[in-house]
Amino acid sequence: MSKQSKRIEALVYHAKPTPGKIKVVPTKKYASQRDLSLAYSPGVAEPCLEIEKEVNNVYKYTAKGNLVAVISNGTAVLGLGNIGPEASKPVMEGKGLLFKIFADIDVFDIEVDTEDVDAFIETVKNIAPTFGGINLEDIKAPEAFEIERRLKEELDIPVMHDDQHGTAIISAAALLNALEIAEKNIEDVKIVVSGAGAAAISCTRLYQSCGAKAEHIVMLDSKGVIRKDRENLTPQKTEFATDRKIDTLDEAMKEADVFIGLSMADIVTPEMLKSMAKDPIVFAMANPNPEISYQLAVDTRDDIIMATGRSDHPNQVNNVLGFPFIFRGALDVRATKINEAMKMAAVKALSQLAKEPVPEQVNLAYNETRLTFGRDYIIPKPFDPRLIAEVPPAVAKAAMESGVAKEPIEDWDRYKNSLLE
Ligand code: NAP
Ligand code: MG
Repeated sequence: MSKQSKRIEALVYHAKPTPGKIKVVPTKKYASQRDLSLAYSPGVAEPCLEIEKEVNNVYKYTAKGNLVAVISNGTAVLGLGNIGPEASKPVMEGKGLLFKIFADIDVFDIEVDTEDVDAFIETVKNIAPTFGGINLEDIKAPEAFEIERRLKEELDIPVMHDDQHGTAIISAAALLNALEIAEKNIEDVKIVVSGAGAAAISCTRLYQSCGAKAEHIVMLDSKGVIRKDRENLTPQKTEFATDRKIDTLDEAMKEADVFIGLSMADIVTPEMLKSMAKDPIVFAMANPNPEISYQLAVDTRDDIIMATGRSDHPNQVNNVLGFPFIFRGALDVRATKINEAMKMAAVKALSQLAKEPVPEQVNLAYNETRLTFGRDYIIPKPFDPRLIAEVPPAVAKAAMESGVAKEPIEDWDRYKNSLLE
């Protein structure tokens, strides 16, 4: 299909038959006058009064507990940059669609017209009573860091900036598995991170939680290697500044075990790959075009373990493996946070799942004959029905064990069955 016809196809998909991708559907009967007098006045006053008496009753009588806000100000949308709140709406609606189909979570997408950090935070806080959780989306760094930090502190519902943590969780699961295949320890490997934005910073932090050592990490931004002696670094960049006296990606890649790309297309050359250690792990995740193309990379090194953000190659690092299931688990125990323990539980559940035998229906969905744990299959596929059964319980359990679950689950078998319904 030509570029032009793909463009038309996407526009028609969004425009017809109804503009947009989601709508609101009632969940109660509304056929008779009696139904309406329950749904609205006078019947509706009863739950109002119950909630007024005890605010947690809002979970019992309204849709709050299964409702997530996907909120953006449109300042870092996909790879498109700062395109504004209205232009970000198709992405936020798309996220709503994914939440619904993968985890049966309802979403209101909210596009906020401000780039001011305080005003944005104030807006989210003011509308938070409506929601069981907040998914911050496509907000540019460094503002996104402060927005998330403060909202997590000030709200008692789960808040997650998916561009940071979603990618971190999925890629950490993939990294642990790639290291297992390469027979390397995370404590020992040399890691090069290209990019120092929202995704790169959060990924690197999570890899450290998984065991990666700060002294083995070199991070680069658009100006080159982030050295300790560089001036005007943001606090987040300072966190990963290196003592090594090197400046370029070329130098950083020599003998490196792992390359993490969350920056720009086509900045890694075959020569750089050749200079990496044995069984190099290369996650070139810039979208839509990776730091080095899949084909060029696998043609250059036959011992490579390669992942990208793209669906047309093996090992797609795709956030959809994370956010629906993480929020599902968090909502189901009414967690007040999505904390490190819950993120780590998702990492472990995802990496473990990739090592289990793959059901036939997954092979069929992806036109594969035999997906098996190995270089070309280090993370589960999004249409794997086991994700909904495995990831939310792991996240929910971690929430309970770390003391942030307000409604602990008692019957796990029943819970797992309910997820599969
Ligand atoms: P961001 O906050 O805008 O960060 C981009 C970072 O890349 C900045 O730190 C920038 O440096 C750096 N950069 C630009 N040119 C570079 C170069 N030539 N060499 C090294 N670093 C360079 O964006 P983001 O949200 O973190 O996303 C970054 C990329 O990752 C995008 O392509 C995005 O699509 C992709 N991504 C993929 C996934 C996935 O799941 N596959 C998930 C999230 C993001 P400065 O700080 O100097 O500006
Ligand atoms: Mg995003």
